[in-house]
Amino acid sequence: MITKNSYRQIQRHIVWMLNHTRKEFSIDLAHVKVFISPKSGIGALLQGNPAICIRYNQMQHAINVWRKNAQDYANEHQSECIPHHLIEKGKCIILAQHVLQSTCIDQCGIIWHEYGHAYNETRQIKNTEANAYLFEVDMITAAWRQGVLQMYDVMAKDVHNYLGSRQNYFDNGTNELADKLAYLRALLDIEVEPFQRERFNRYFWCAYSRQVSLHNQENTIAWHK
Ligand SMILES: [Zn+2]
Repeated sequence: MITKNSYRQIQRHIVWMLNHTRKEFSIDLAHVKVFISPKSGIGALLQGNPAICIRYNQMQHAINVWRKNAQDYANEHQSECIPHHLIEKGKCIILAQHVLQSTCIDQCGIIWHEYGHAYNETRQIKNTEANAYLFEVDMITAAWRQGVLQMYDVMAKDVHNYLGSRQNYFDNGTNELADKLAYLRALLDIEVEPFQRERFNRYFWCAYSRQVSLHNQENTIAWHK
C-alpha cells in the first residue's frame, strides 16, 4: 500500500541530499522527483532493479508505457498514492515499493545512487555507473561526517555492511572511487565518544529540521490524491 506516508518516509533522505548538493557542488537536483512504484504496477523494474533514473534520452515510448501502467494501477487502487504524472524523462527516479522495507542505509544508498545519475546529466558529465558510484559514496561520506546517518541510528557496521554488499559493483569503478571508499571506511572506524555524538546529533537535528521546513514550503508536490 503506497500512501503519502511512504513518500514522507523517503523525503528526509532526499531533502538532506538536495541541500548538500546545492551547497557542496552548486547543483540543484530539485527538479528530479521520486515516484514509488507498486509491485505489479510498472514494467521498468521487472529485471530486479530496485530503482531507475529516467534519463533525458530515454525512449518516449517506454515512458508512456510506464505511465500508463501506473495510471491503470492508480485506477484500480484508488486509496493509494500514485502520482503517475511524475514519470517524465530527465525528471524522475522510479523506486520499487519494497525498498521502503529495507534498512535506512540501503534506502539512502539506492536513492542517492539514482540521484547520482541525475547529477551526471545535470552537470553534463558522462552518465556512467562509475560516476554514479562516486556521487553515492560522496553522499554517504558527507552524511556520516555530518551525523545525519547516526541520527537515524545507522551504525558504522551498517555502513560497512552496505559497502560490502556493493563492493562487486564498486570494483568496476575508478581509482578515485577506491580512494574515496578507503577514506570512508577509515572514517567509519574512528570512534566518537557518546557524549560528543549526542552534541553533534542535537546540532545537526536543529539545522536539518530547519532545512526540511524550508524545503516543504518551497516544494509542495501536487499529489495525485
Ligand atoms: Zn546506476
